[in-house]
Amino acid sequence: MELTGKSVFGGIAIGNLSLYRKNDNVVKRVKVEDPEVEINRFESAKETAKEQLGQLYDKAMKEVGEANAAVFEVHQMMLDDLDYIESVQNMIRSQGINAEFAVATTGDNFSEMFAAMDDDYMKARAADVKDISNRVVSVLQGGDQGGFKSDEPVIIIAEDLAPSETVQLDKSLVLSFVTRGGSTNSHTAILARTMNIPALIGVDFDDAIDGKFAIVDGFAGKLIVEPDADTLAVYQKKQEEEREKLRLLQELKGKENVTLDGTKVNLYANIGGVKDVMDVLKNDAGGIGLFRSEFLYLESDNYPSEEDQFKAYRTVAENMAGKKVIIRTLDIGADKQVDYFQMDKEENPALGYRAIRICLDRVDVFKTQLRAIYRASYYGKISVMYPMIISVDEVRRIKEIVEEVKKELDEQGAPYGEVETGIMIETPAAVLMSEELAKEVDFFSIGTNDLTQYTLACDRQNAKLDGINDPHHPAVLRAIEMTIKNGHKGGAWVGICGELGADTTLTETFLRMGVDELSVSPSRILAVRDKIRSIDLSK
Ligand code: PEP
Ligand code: MG
Repeated sequence: MELTGKSVFGGIAIGNLSLYRKNDNVVKRVKVEDPEVEINRFESAKETAKEQLGQLYDKAMKEVGEANAAVFEVHQMMLDDLDYIESVQNMIRSQGINAEFAVATTGDNFSEMFAAMDDDYMKARAADVKDISNRVVSVLQGGDQGGFKSDEPVIIIAEDLAPSETVQLDKSLVLSFVTRGGSTNSHTAILARTMNIPALIGVDFDDAIDGKFAIVDGFAGKLIVEPDADTLAVYQKKQEEEREKLRLLQELKGKENVTLDGTKVNLYANIGGVKDVMDVLKNDAGGIGLFRSEFLYLESDNYPSEEDQFKAYRTVAENMAGKKVIIRTLDIGADKQVDYFQMDKEENPALGYRAIRICLDRVDVFKTQLRAIYRASYYGKISVMYPMIISVDEVRRIKEIVEEVKKELDEQGAPYGEVETGIMIETPAAVLMSEELAKEVDFFSIGTNDLTQYTLACDRQNAKLDGINDPHHPAVLRAIEMTIKNGHKGGAWVGICGELGADTTLTETFLRMGVDELSVSPSRILAVRDKIRSIDLSK
């Protein structure tokens, strides 16, 4: 059976399909004969949940260290909280209802209670109590936690994947992503590019293909389920040829990013977390042009502390050994939702309360991150940039807050280094104001994913708009050209860190516009270098 979709990253994957299921437990209220049976079910589910949390703690300790693992220990303790246990037991006994409903309702009640507290720490427990209750409900319902089940690498098939789901995936088990929904610029697509694996979106598959053997052709946008022997042989050969091409690209390691006529350009990498630094080094990037710091927030169940963030930024800076690391401050909202921020539902989230707008409103959260970034700057060459800027006033306000943070660090005797300041150019407003904005900062980084969405008034998450949401649209290219020109006029260097930066059909265009830096997925570094080295700008 052959299904078609839209490719978001090329390559060939061969393996078994595994369906990713969401953990959307529906909990019904059911009257029971014997409440004591339900109390016992609750007790035993609670113990199983604690065991699971113990295993998660051990896994997280090995993979991400103590600071990130600690949350699982806290969750274990919360499950032993007497008020929580008594509330569940009382509800079961007094109303004669099933354990699932009592646990879910207690979770909701406690969560609301915590959310209403003044203390920020207690407020943040709201998401935790919901999380532990969901876990117990899952155990009561037969242990289904969502996700996919496999010990071997598989092709993930899913309706769609939220950023918070992708960060939890065990990447070593993923050969490819195939989704029904999603869009070319969704974060699942970006993750596939970072992981250098083929991915398809908009594939209308039937869940019954779960577990079957298949091929993903990321070049032609095809999913071939249960291929015959001849087809399989053709694709195995193709896969080997691709591997050979990648081996040839390896020969470009250590070479300069220079055109035939001698124009040099910086080629940096985009990362989502500390783990990606290995890929940056392996692919010989000259620095990190975009560290999407929000993944630290998405990965955790609570506000990451200054210390946890400091450790992450410092590790990246130290591993990059003096090469530039540009950290983008928190960019959540829109498709990147974080439960513990307790944000209201919005009619138009992409145009809503997100990124720098949240940071300038929640200055406590912003300052925690800035303190961590500035402290880490002592250990390497860190720059900082701010997302979703629309005005000079925002930049001035940011700079005031940064000055306050630096003053506090000075008073505490905490050392920090020289930190370049940049902004992302992702909105038409920023493009139109780029001459004035350039005078305020050291550099611009053009976020073509959002710039395309906002210039063309096209939701980047909407698969139906994929044909219209075209980053090659002349309006987008003109906006990029104008930004580079005005940036230089105002004394700022200009890079591109959106996905378009890796599009080798445009590399020459960008170089002719005078771009100073391109920041791309680690897996694209050598291919872009290859392209740069083939261009002659003197012709
Ligand atoms: C962009 O918008 O181009 C960008 C790099 O940021 P993100 O994709 O994380 O929104
Ligand atoms: Mg963006």
